[in-house]
Amino acid sequence: MTAEEYRQRAKDVVDYLVDYLQNIRERRVFPDVQPGYMQNLVPGEAPTRPDKWEDIFADVERVIMPGVTHWQSPYMHAYFPALNSYPSLLGDMLADAISCLGFTWASSPACTELETIVMDWLGKMLGMPSCFLHGDRNSKSMGGGCIQTTASDCTFVTLLAARTEAIRRAKAQQPDLEDAEINGRLIGYCSDQAHSSVEKAGLIGLVKMRFLLSDEGLSLRGDTLQEAITLDRERGFIPFYVCATLGTTGACAFDNLMEIGPVCEREHVWLHIDAAYAGTAFICPEYRSLMSGIDYADSFAFNPSKWMMVHFDCSAMWVKDARALHRTFNVEPLYLQHENSGAAIDYMHWQIALSRRFRSLKLWFVLRCFGVEGLQRHIRRGVDLAKRFELLVRADRRFEVTAKRVLGMIVFRIAGANELTENLLKRLNKQGLIHMVPASLKGKYVIRFTVTSQFTTEADIDRDWKLITDMAAVVLEDSLG
Ligand code: PLP
Repeated sequence: MTAEEYRQRAKDVVDYLVDYLQNIRERRVFPDVQPGYMQNLVPGEAPTRPDKWEDIFADVERVIMPGVTHWQSPYMHAYFPALNSYPSLLGDMLADAISCLGFTWASSPACTELETIVMDWLGKMLGMPSCFLHGDRNSKSMGGGCIQTTASDCTFVTLLAARTEAIRRAKAQQPDLEDAEINGRLIGYCSDQAHSSVEKAGLIGLVKMRFLLSDEGLSLRGDTLQEAITLDRERGFIPFYVCATLGTTGACAFDNLMEIGPVCEREHVWLHIDAAYAGTAFICPEYRSLMSGIDYADSFAFNPSKWMMVHFDCSAMWVKDARALHRTFNVEPLYLQHENSGAAIDYMHWQIALSRRFRSLKLWFVLRCFGVEGLQRHIRRGVDLAKRFELLVRADRRFEVTAKRVLGMIVFRIAGANELTENLLKRLNKQGLIHMVPASLKGKYVIRFTVTSQFTTEADIDRDWKLITDMAAVVLEDSLG
C-alpha cells in the first residue's frame, strides 16, 4: 500500500467506523454464530498474491461483523463497560503510527514524560493522596503512577513487589533462609468477592491466597482479615499481601478500607486496591467517600479502559514507593542503559514486559477533550440511568434487586428459584437484542445489568426493561408447566 493509498483508505476506514458507532443500535448486540463459524468464510491458506483492498475491506462486514459482540452498543450490559471515544481512538491512531516502545526514558522520552504527567493529572482528578504522585522534578516523592495493560497485571505486579519486600524483611531477620523457603510460607488475602485475577496472581506467583468471607453487604471487614492473619501466623505462614476491591465484579460492592487498612499497617502487609471499574467514579467528589482509607494502601489501580472512555488497553496503577517495583523488576543490560539511567524514570522497571506502547496519548486526548467536568457528567449520567433501571426493577414485584446499587450496575433476579433467572438470561442472550452476564452472590444466581455506553438514553433503558419483562413473562408462564 502506498502512502497515497493509505491516506485515502484511512479516511474510508474512519467513515466506516463513525457509521458503525452511530448506527450500532441496528446491529444485534450478541452474535448468532457457533464456534468455528469463520472457517467456512475464509480460505485455509494466506493468499499467495496480494488481495485487493476492496475485497479485504468488504470482508469486514462479511466475515468479521457477524461474529462481533458489540461492546459499544447501548444494549450491551454484560461485564463492565469497555468504552471508546473519538479522542481516544485518535490518540491511539497517532500512537500506532509513532510505534515507539517506551521501555526506557531514552527509548522515546516523550512517551515516558507524558505518561508521568497524565498519571499525576489523573491521580489529582481522583483525589489520590500526593504520596502516590510523581510530583514535579524537585519532588522527593517515592511514589508515582504508570499505565499497565490490565487490572490483572496490576494485581500481579504488585503481588510480586509485595513478595520481594516480604522476602527482604524475612531475610533481614533470618539471613540464612532461602528465598524459596520464605516464598513457600507467604500468604495473601482477598475477599470471596474478589476478581479471579487475584486468584490467578497467587497461582502464578506461587503463593497461597486465602479468600475471606465477605459480610452480608459483600464487603471484606477488618476483623475477618485480622482473625485470618493471626491464625495464619500461628500456623507458620507469613502474611504479605491483601488485595481489597472497590467495586466488585459480581455486585459492585466495596471492601471496608478504613478497617482493612490499619490491619495491613499493623501487620506489615502490602495493601493493593483493585478499583478496576469503580475507580472512574472517583473523578466525582461525591463518590470519593467510597475510597476512604486509600492512605493505607501501598498501591491502587483502576481501568480508564472501562468506564472512562479510554479504550482498551489502559490500566492506571499507582504505588507509594516505586523502589519496591525496581527491586522486583530491575535488570539492566548494557543495551538498555542510557545517559540518564537512574535519573529519569525507566518504566521497564515497573512492569513484567520490556516493551510498552505509547498509551498515554489516548489518555491525554481524552482528558483534554472532555475535561474533568465532561468526564464527571458522563459518570453521573451513567449512574442516573442505572437508577432509572433500578426503579423499574423495584416497581415490578416479580423481581428483586439482590445487592445495593452504588454506581452504574444493578444486580437483579426473578424472585424464586435460581433456575428462573438462569432461564431468563439464557433466552435473552439467545435472542441477541440485549446482552448481560450472570453472577453468583452467596448462592443466588443474579443478572448483572451495567449501563455501559455514553450514548445510552432513557428510551434505551425502557426498551431493555421491556425486553426483559416480556421474556420474564414467558419464563414464568413456562415454569407453571
Ligand atoms: N478486577 C475487577 C474488580 C474486575 O471487575 C475486572 C474485570 O472486569 C478485573 C479486575 C480484570 O480486569 P482486566 O481485564 O483489566 O485484567
